Amino acid sequence: MVGLERYEAINRGEALAKFQIAKRINAEKAESLDEMLEIHRKLKREFAKVLESGDVPDEKPDYSFMHLKRDILYEMLKSCNFCERRCGVNRYEKKGFCKCGVTSYFSSEFLHVGEEPELVPSHTIFFNRCTFACVFCQNYDIVYEDDYIVDARELAYIIDVRRRQGSKNVNFVGGNPDQHAHTIAEILLYVESNVPVVWNSNMYHSEELAEVIEDFVDVWLGDFKYGNDECARKYSKVANYWKVVTRNFLRAKENGELLIRHLVMPNHIECCTEPIVRWVAENLGRDTRFNLMFQYYPTFKAWEYPEIARRLTREEMEKAARIAEKYLSNLV
Ligand code: SF4
Repeated sequence: MVGLERYEAINRGEALAKFQIAKRINAEKAESLDEMLEIHRKLKREFAKVLESGDVPDEKPDYSFMHLKRDILYEMLKSCNFCERRCGVNRYEKKGFCKCGVTSYFSSEFLHVGEEPELVPSHTIFFNRCTFACVFCQNYDIVYEDDYIVDARELAYIIDVRRRQGSKNVNFVGGNPDQHAHTIAEILLYVESNVPVVWNSNMYHSEELAEVIEDFVDVWLGDFKYGNDECARKYSKVANYWKVVTRNFLRAKENGELLIRHLVMPNHIECCTEPIVRWVAENLGRDTRFNLMFQYYPTFKAWEYPEIARRLTREEMEKAARIAEKYLSNLV
């Protein structure tokens, strides 16, 4: 599949998932976040060389690049800037907008067969909570609850079991995975199998978070929801949406493989669907793998917004499909 060559090579056993490479790069321990970030910057260059050459060390050191990433993420929690809400709270003491402290919770995990064809069966882990507050949230039962405490060793064991059962990837989703990046890094330290990591996200993470997690994300499965800031503010309560997500999509393309999803919304073809597909074609390439989704239905608080309080009409679906086909050549 165009754009997912490395992902497919991992599944054929011809390449290593990034987190397994990161676990094979030796790192020094440090006390302060600044020192850790300095070491991290140097090791990123080494990691990039190993990734490109495929010349991966056999041994796993006691303290690796992946351990360093885990420790950095736990330090970042003391003034949380995982996403562009930049709450700055100490998550060891209080919760920010996403209502997450240090402990992560998840709702379910299973082999999902309803994802894009190249991803199924996908071992999907639904984390609780989200950094957005979408009025039409289709997973509000997951987002506004804390279900099961994540035990990193136990979930890693389950990821290995699901791999043996045939999973093509481990797919971290929610809600959203970004606010649980520290926990996910910890889980990956215990995972033994060579399984590609899919980051199924709203793409509203900070650059500081991208700098750390991009070396263990193999495929960015990014939602591109809105074509402008006004719709993003109105329906998801976020600021600077367009600038943040376009920056993150460009960075994701530089640092991994990319699959984009766009949920078409009623009355939002001209303001959202069209600018999104045009930007993707012009900036990420016409052949970007793109899933145009028509399954929107009004739920949660969508009833308070008459313009989105219904399903799509046939005309809207046809119009969105025509626009996507005009700009893009690799539609799911
Ligand atoms: S992840 Fe985002 S929303 Fe949650 S506390 Fe951190 S900055 Fe705030």
